[in-house]
Amino acid sequence: MVVGLLGILKTGGAYLPLDPEYPAQRLAHMVQDSGIELLLTHRATRDCIAPRDGLTVLEAETLDLRFESEADPQVELRGDHLAYVIYTSGSTGKPKGAAVHHDALHSCMAWMQQTYRLTRSDTVLHKAPFGFDVSVWELFWPLTAGARLVVANPGDHRDPARLVALIQRHEVTTLNFVPSMLQAFLAHKGIETSTRLRYIICGGEAMPAETQKETLERLHGASLQNLYGPTETTIHVTHWTCRNDGQSLVLIGKPISQTQAYVLDAGLNLVPRGVAGELYLGGVSLARGYLNRPGLSAERFVADPFDAAGARLYRTGDLVRWNTEGQLEYLGRIDHQVKIRGFRIELGEIEAQLRAQPAVREAVVVTREGPAGASLIAYISVHAGQAVDSAGLRERLAQALPDYMVLRAVVTLADLPLNANGKVDRKALPEPEGLGRASAYEAPQGHVAGTLAAVWSEVLQVEQVGLNDNFFDLGGHSLLLIRAHRLLEDRLHLAVPLVHLFKYPTVGSLARWIEQGGAQAAPSSAAGDERALRQRAAMLQRRKPAERVN
Ligand code: AMP
Repeated sequence: MVVGLLGILKTGGAYLPLDPEYPAQRLAHMVQDSGIELLLTHRATRDCIAPRDGLTVLEAETLDLRFESEADPQVELRGDHLAYVIYTSGSTGKPKGAAVHHDALHSCMAWMQQTYRLTRSDTVLHKAPFGFDVSVWELFWPLTAGARLVVANPGDHRDPARLVALIQRHEVTTLNFVPSMLQAFLAHKGIETSTRLRYIICGGEAMPAETQKETLERLHGASLQNLYGPTETTIHVTHWTCRNDGQSLVLIGKPISQTQAYVLDAGLNLVPRGVAGELYLGGVSLARGYLNRPGLSAERFVADPFDAAGARLYRTGDLVRWNTEGQLEYLGRIDHQVKIRGFRIELGEIEAQLRAQPAVREAVVVTREGPAGASLIAYISVHAGQAVDSAGLRERLAQALPDYMVLRAVVTLADLPLNANGKVDRKALPEPEGLGRASAYEAPQGHVAGTLAAVWSEVLQVEQVGLNDNFFDLGGHSLLLIRAHRLLEDRLHLAVPLVHLFKYPTVGSLARWIEQGGAQAAPSSAAGDERALRQRAAMLQRRKPAERVN
């Protein structure tokens, strides 16, 4: 991937990351909408993208990467040439590609280096999936500053135990977290061993004050940075050094170099300090716009009312205010864009997918905070004489939307409640009932299933978990799964690869896999924890002979 991206840029191209974990329909849209001409892929992931006329496919395995030629490709690159295109959720139903040029990328990298000063003895961990713009700095900052780059394996970014091991093994000094993942990292016992950490760079969503406090208390040597920025303004554009000073709000701070920030009202007037308004951003960091979407670009990238020379401002949709010290406070969104565990979601995109289903008449999607965190709930009404099966509907949506946009529940109403303006009254929507339960409760049987159900119920904070209940339907998500994983390994004294918790999301299916010998005795047990070994032996005894697997 690293060689591929450098190769693309060096030969004058711009890159568009395509994550093989995305559903085929979404990838097909990104390929079509962007009009890419060359697909650089591995043999194993080639089939994720349907072939089409005019698309040349290069498999990495067939390339000669031995660097025999030192020759520079002699491509003349200018700062306004495109560097990359990253797709984000689109409110009208389709994701849109923010098109970022070299000057913007260079300016961000130069600011990071001037501010934090990586040296040859620094090691930066690259762990963000390539489809998110954080991955751009994780990769190019160390490479342009001469520091060491360590690339995590896919999936490592959501597994605190693997991260702690990577940080220790490679003496990582600098890494990035979205606050939700930082919280999951803090919940891990061994993080204090990360003594070489110098910078923890955070961003992507609001950081809770408790996360700031705990991080600074437990990782003494590290400086915690809160960076803010939409994909449309090149990774991050404001910065704040976190402090443990008991404040209840973590600020987003001041603009970085070559960036202007204005807080404006609906008429594009500056609002006074302390008054909330929408944040508008200007400067070199602004993307060119959305690739091949001039209408949408004109809507969000508007003429700068303070610049006679014709500069543009990006309307962020974020509500902020200046505090008395001239620092920005983030207050929330003014539209229906949400962040769930750091993932940017336009609720309108999911609503458009729902409305595209033939039986659906009206649709609205909201987020609901539960004990296990935020989840997405859809409310729909259907055309006369039609019915929808909500499980089937969710499955159809999962074919078009990435897993972090998958609905937890679909509630069908006769009509959606409207307010006086004829718009859907989101506040009047009823609370959904019996969320995520399998239709018939079946009690978990045996030690393994019983332990799993107890762990699920503790982590998800639901009273009763049945054999066929699905972790994700009950409000679970990848970060909670990590917590569940740690608890069940502790209690069963078994090593269960995290990926199997994703693969077997019901108590019944995971218990079956464990009882068939899928899991291994945990290393501490192998080293002589007799109790654990006895438990495992007893468990193996209880298996029916036909289920035994060596
Ligand atoms: P993305 O394009 O995925 O980077 O998402 C950009 C949006 O995430 C912003 O418009 C904000 O709503 C939110 N965001 C990003 N960084 C922060 C931060 N440090 N604090 C609060 N919100 C943030």
